[in-house]
Amino acid sequence: MSYSSRFGFDFHLPDEGWCYPKDDMFFRRSAEWVPLESAGVGRSFANTNSVIYPRITGMVPRYGGHVPGEIFKPPIGGMCQFTITTRKRKQTQDKRRKRKVLDMTSLLSICRRGFHTSSVRQQIIQSATPTKRICIVGAGPAGFYAAQHLLKNLNDCVVDIVEKLPVPFGLVRFGVAPDHPEVKNVINTFTKTAEHPSLRFFGNVALGTDVSLQELRNQYHAVLLTYGSDQDRELQLENEQQSHVISARKFVAWYNGLPGAENLEPDLSGRDVTIVGQGNVAVDVARMLLSPLDALRSTDTTEYALEALSRSQVERVHLVGRRGPLQAAFTIKELREMLKLPNVQTRWRSDDFSGIANQVEQLQRPRKRLTELMLKSLKEQEKLSSSGSKQFLPIFLRAPKSIAEGEMEFSVTELQQDSAVPTDAIERLPANLILRSIGYKSSCADADISFDARRGHVRNREGRVLKLDASDSVDAGLYVAGWLGTGPTGVILTTMSGAFAVAKNICEDMAANALDTSTSKPGFEADDKRVVTWDGWRRINDFEIETGKAKGKPREKIVSIAEMLRVAGV
Ligand code: FAD
Repeated sequence: MSYSSRFGFDFHLPDEGWCYPKDDMFFRRSAEWVPLESAGVGRSFANTNSVIYPRITGMVPRYGGHVPGEIFKPPIGGMCQFTITTRKRKQTQDKRRKRKVLDMTSLLSICRRGFHTSSVRQQIIQSATPTKRICIVGAGPAGFYAAQHLLKNLNDCVVDIVEKLPVPFGLVRFGVAPDHPEVKNVINTFTKTAEHPSLRFFGNVALGTDVSLQELRNQYHAVLLTYGSDQDRELQLENEQQSHVISARKFVAWYNGLPGAENLEPDLSGRDVTIVGQGNVAVDVARMLLSPLDALRSTDTTEYALEALSRSQVERVHLVGRRGPLQAAFTIKELREMLKLPNVQTRWRSDDFSGIANQVEQLQRPRKRLTELMLKSLKEQEKLSSSGSKQFLPIFLRAPKSIAEGEMEFSVTELQQDSAVPTDAIERLPANLILRSIGYKSSCADADISFDARRGHVRNREGRVLKLDASDSVDAGLYVAGWLGTGPTGVILTTMSGAFAVAKNICEDMAANALDTSTSKPGFEADDKRVVTWDGWRRINDFEIETGKAKGKPREKIVSIAEMLRVAGV
């Protein structure tokens, strides 16, 4: 968006772009620095640390009520020259009592390029001489939300995000189902954070391979680990390694285009798929298998997955859980979607629901609504004819027992104080393909991380990582957030709250001098590594969107790392 001012130059704001509240722009009027408000633009609001932030229309609707689309009005009143800088820069300059003004030429060039280019960001980072450097490992929701909180609440900090893949967003890109594009809108918030002048993104850099934890700790005042959970839990059954048994994690990665998953080739030539587990991931997978292909063609499902799904012979998906309907792990939204799938019948087993109706009234509200929906659907299925449609078959009270070619054996279970206890009775279910969906777990990326291998997460207290020596004392300066710290449970919203809480602890520890921030730290040095910057990611993003357009898709994901690097230009 470009606004022509009466002062003879274009004042540029990125389209639907933003100015982070902590990096207000200041105008220079005569010899004195003034925030935009005093210079006569809009109104201001004060935040809790009493910094006055100007309201600039057309920017950040999320922060302080900016009105998108309203025209930015340049100051009235005949100021003949002003220059723009960030609040941080201003503070530094105030401190030194040196007021350097960017000359009009560079201002114009910055304005014309927009404030989001990495060259500008680099320039600002270098000139701001920040005192606190924080490295976040992993560019998923936990990483971005923590960065957002830090940049908003910690004065004079620079945040670097180091990410294993050339592309950001973790499970939002590679986990969330393609037919849930609304969930992926969080990417807009993450992008705004990434374009903050005090944030740098280093893609294609893996902790444990390209850089060690010790190196990062030497380069930063604090390191926050948010590298998620990239392994899956196993059933621990014989024959589990056979080719017709795969994890839901790999299947999800396959249809979502995680590099390395493109050669999975799940066998969809049989009629029956049995999914072990009843969480939302399991339901996502069932929906992908049963959805009409036309509904998926307009999503960002990878092209090879669409092609394989178009040849799929799968007609029945069994969704098997150890416990009963009152313990079902899927949520009501996901169940509703299944019930509405065209040409798919949901068939419950009435035996699974004996005695359930009597308990509904005592249930807490979300569980009550879910149970009522299951009971309603059970009642309605009597009216359904069984011909000509695919079937979704939730089955309760069955624990996996053994795997054979084309089928799977389950123990019938009984509930004892909410736990499933196997009985002697068994049931065999047809299973041309078995998908294991019983949870994720994290891995230990670096030997210096205090890792609980049994639980599959980093040992921590409120996000403060504990020392390696198995004592319960905190390793100052090392933090963990997201699934890596909590274990692989919770949706993006839960991850956000957790990441905010850990970032708050980092701010508090710094304020309390629990970390040594007195000496300056250099930050990550890329050396000869092929690093993808945020600009590189933008090139990948533009390329994917452009390629997707031709196919009526929001994007066509690049699935090879080599190709990502080529498009990113590194
Ligand atoms: P992640 O999202 O996994 O991010 C971790 C990041 O770290 C990744 O980018 C990874 O590449 C990077 N990384 C890994 N190893 C290294 C390393 N060694 N060095 C550097 N970087 C590394 N939630 C919802 O709210 N709605 C949904 O619809 C939804 N669907 C989901 C579907 C699936 C299949 C799954 C598994 C989860 C879903 N969730 C959903 C949950 C949501 O994805 C998580 O809550 C969230 O992604 C956890 O964030 P995180 O940052 O901890 O981990």
